Amino acid sequence: MEKQIDVAIIGGGIAGITAGLYVKRSNLSVMAIDRNVFGGKLAKLGEIYNYPGFEAISGPELAYKLMEQATKNDIELEYGSVINVTKQDDGLFLVETEEHMIRAKVVIIATGTIEKQLGIPGEKEFLNRGVSYCATCDGPLYRNKEVAVVGYLDTALEEAIYLSGIAQTVHLISKASVKEIESDKLSHVLSRSNINLIAKSDVMTIKGHDHVESIIVMDLDTNDEQEIKVSAVFPYIGQKTLTEFLANLKVETRNGYLVVNKDMETNVPGLLAAGDTTDKKLRQLVTAAGDGCIAATSAIRYIKAKK
Ligand SMILES: Cc1cc2nc3c(=O)[nH]c(=O)nc-3n(C[C@H](O)[C@H](O)[C@H](O)COP(=O)(O)OP(=O)(O)OC[C@H]3O[C@@H](n4cnc5c(N)ncnc54)[C@H](O)[C@@H]3O)c2cc1C
Repeated sequence: MEKQIDVAIIGGGIAGITAGLYVKRSNLSVMAIDRNVFGGKLAKLGEIYNYPGFEAISGPELAYKLMEQATKNDIELEYGSVINVTKQDDGLFLVETEEHMIRAKVVIIATGTIEKQLGIPGEKEFLNRGVSYCATCDGPLYRNKEVAVVGYLDTALEEAIYLSGIAQTVHLISKASVKEIESDKLSHVLSRSNINLIAKSDVMTIKGHDHVESIIVMDLDTNDEQEIKVSAVFPYIGQKTLTEFLANLKVETRNGYLVVNKDMETNVPGLLAAGDTTDKKLRQLVTAAGDGCIAATSAIRYIKAKK
């Protein structure tokens, strides 16, 4: 398929879909492209307590509502992985997926982030056989079993708390000492009797046969190692962006994140970015939605100025 539209949005998470909703209000044509599920990370989250208008709502339910709203507003949703974006001599962007070529006046990058890998033996080998980066998706498989969460950031603590409601014991392996953990969720972690916080330690190897069976954990003060029997390992050591497809455009980045101004403009005219993929302090649903709204407004302004 080869198609020309006004605005191409890469990534159909909350940032991308919000941008689409706002662009659509200006009667411009818009397409959101996603390689996975529309709703993005939302679809993998558990209960959300800080999204305005809902005392509590599950991630998949909010993702479904977003999709429904996008469809009702005639946002074209295209499944596919974007592999390359270039700017043509006529000023249009060419967005390439494995199957399609889309020409667009403006492109909004809203590709979010993915979990960083630990890079240790056993991690790749046991992916989906005990190693998972999504506690909400796979946690229920480990009811009343021993599991491990690796990391000390907010997300690691949040997922350990979630898993403590399912698993028998959650071993939370943190490189940081208890004092160094800066999260308001620490007190909840410490109050759960079935979370075993192992601080100043790191996971060296994930072991098993067909499935994860144990981890080797090293004490970072003494270098002593212990083997802990677990059925699953959930690494949460941080996020990284997915923007390799922009290699030809020389987009400015900081620590891998896209640098944008207050109008969500990158250094490439007509190329905007929104949500977790941008260089910012707070990566949350409401900030991603806010970014999407601003990016859409800038897209509309850019297109009108070119007419
Ligand atoms: C464990 C955890 C718990 C969280 N809890 C909360 C919470 O309670 N409250 C809160 O406000 N926030 C929470 N967050 C943060 C929140 O989920 C994110 O800030 C938000 O979802 C980011 O939205 P986004 O649209 O920028 O990116 P995403 O939701 O990540 O969407 C990006 C989309 O881009 C797609 N994509 C990527 N690359 C390509 C490509 N090359 N081609 C096509 N598509 C592509 C992906 O498939 C994905 O669907 C949590 C995050 C995590 C990890």
